[in-house]
Amino acid sequence: MQTKEFKAESKRLLDMMINSIYTHKEIFLRELISNASDAIDKLYFKSLTDTSMGINKDDLSIELAADKENRTLTVSDNGIGMTEQELEDNLGTIANSGSFKFKKDNELGDDVDIIGQFGVGFYSTFMVAKEVTVITKAFGSDKAYKWQSNGVDGYTVEEAEKDTVGTTIILSLKDNTEDENYDKFLDQYQLKSLVKKYSDYIRFPIRMDVEHTNYTDEESEPTKEIVHETLNSMTPIWKRSKTELTDEDYNNFYTEKFMDYTPPIAHIHSKNEGLATYDALLYIPARAPFDYYSKDFEKGLQLYSSGVMIMEKCADLLPDWFSFVKGLVDSEDLSLNISRELLQHDKQLKVIAKNLERSIKNELTKMLKNDREKYLKFYETFGLQFKFGIYQSYGSAKDTLEDLLMFPSSFEGKQVTLAEYVSRMKEDQKDIYYACGESIARIEALPQLERVKEKGYEVLYLTHDVDEFAVKVMMKYKDHPFKSISDGDLDLESEEEKEQAKKTAEESKEMFEFMTKSLDGKVKEVRLSSKLKSHPVCLSAEGNITIEMEKVLSAMPQNEHEDVKATKVMELNASHPIFAKLKELYVSDKDKLAEYTKLLYSQALLIEGLSIDDPVEFANLICGLMV
Ligand code: ADP
Repeated sequence: MQTKEFKAESKRLLDMMINSIYTHKEIFLRELISNASDAIDKLYFKSLTDTSMGINKDDLSIELAADKENRTLTVSDNGIGMTEQELEDNLGTIANSGSFKFKKDNELGDDVDIIGQFGVGFYSTFMVAKEVTVITKAFGSDKAYKWQSNGVDGYTVEEAEKDTVGTTIILSLKDNTEDENYDKFLDQYQLKSLVKKYSDYIRFPIRMDVEHTNYTDEESEPTKEIVHETLNSMTPIWKRSKTELTDEDYNNFYTEKFMDYTPPIAHIHSKNEGLATYDALLYIPARAPFDYYSKDFEKGLQLYSSGVMIMEKCADLLPDWFSFVKGLVDSEDLSLNISRELLQHDKQLKVIAKNLERSIKNELTKMLKNDREKYLKFYETFGLQFKFGIYQSYGSAKDTLEDLLMFPSSFEGKQVTLAEYVSRMKEDQKDIYYACGESIARIEALPQLERVKEKGYEVLYLTHDVDEFAVKVMMKYKDHPFKSISDGDLDLESEEEKEQAKKTAEESKEMFEFMTKSLDGKVKEVRLSSKLKSHPVCLSAEGNITIEMEKVLSAMPQNEHEDVKATKVMELNASHPIFAKLKELYVSDKDKLAEYTKLLYSQALLIEGLSIDDPVEFANLICGLMV
């Protein structure tokens, strides 16, 4: 027996691998179980073509045994085992994957799934073990071998005694330190829950002796018994056929897995082959988690590689606008040992993510079409996310989301989609009209709205802060630009009205200039309005910043937007009696006209929901009028 150096010589490399690839020490068990499962797969695969081997599928299993006294954890399998040469090749060289070689040698296509593909999994045992012993007997060989290493000084290989084919791996756990209690890997509850968490869907039973305490009645002492228990459930629900599953099955799985006791409103179970092969089971929850609209919320789907969980929350699988979706993806195309960083660049993962996005969209579209009530409820809970999505993606999510949006509208006071709006557009109508305000009631009181409605145009009511930002980013829906009813020119008048307005504007030109000046830079211009009916005055904005945006930005907590102001225009209604009064004052009393201008401006601010610049001055002017 001689001690051999690891082939990938550098101990530092090993050290780095052990301490940095895996952030969770506990995954060593997942790695060992996956290796064991692979080994059983290989043996079983061989037996399918060679019936003389006498392999009975029911006898194949993985066994765990914890020995608290000696502080060892043993994982055994009755899989294919390793020859002396294989021990050397597989466990002596870092990053040499025997599984990969097996696949190549047997010219197996991708349809044979053998989990390990990376060749470092086994070494993760050194995160928890100070010494690892592997005793193995290969199928077809009459000799068994023992491989032993402390992970630092190389390894030894010698002949050993073993009756049955397969591999037994014995971990001698590290001593407990202040930071890490390795004894927990001997605790039956811990081991059970680790198997459940990572290896529940391994196709072969994983068994362990588990101590049960039976309380028969209150008087007598509880009795203890040892049960050889199977810890994993083996067939994942998402691998089963849709036709054999009921809604109840899906909902029960959801509740158990995601700890949400309200049943989901929809599930999507998809099996995909082609560019990417995967099974996905997604859920649309009925309620938002309490932290959904906070910074603490983490989106993501669970990621499995052939039934083995490799990531609890893979964020890259979901776009932000569908971040409410819960579920999992299982793909054989992904390596078990892939790290978060590598995963981000994984092409397969990108394909899967794109497909999932499409499935979720289709599911929601279907819901909107077939069960509007349900969709409205859903939209009330999560719809805001779509608008943020459009805004934050600078419009790249528009195609995905535009048909899922809903807004309250002047049409029967109901929530409508953009497609519905367009279907009702008047023949001469080019634009999609919208109005902003903090509530529907507030919007309906806007002076500008009257004229647009009178013309028979439907108006969307944008009541949320993000709404107008989203609409601005979208610019148009199909070929119809969005247009705020507070925008300068709505082009609502007939030719005749336009002529008349032009004349009035010319006549009042000097008065408007005087009024603009008396507002001292607060407005860019005072001019005639085409959109007022019974109100004397309103404000509109020119340029990119609308009045609504100014409101939203100035209400933000860390206000870096203090100087972001809309370029305002004060519009007057020429057919209102006040207008005649103003004209009169322009001739007889310019001081009074200046005061009235300020009053009108303040009124317009109030109607828009903005605060007035100088409340005391405003109050004094009103008092003046009253006296
Ligand atoms: P991977 O499993 O990713 O290939 P590992 O470092 O975990 O890499 O294992 C290296 C190789 O050792 C495996 O590919 C396999 O050939 C062999 N091996 C590991 N564990 C077992 C086992 N329990 N039975 C048989 N062979 C094993």
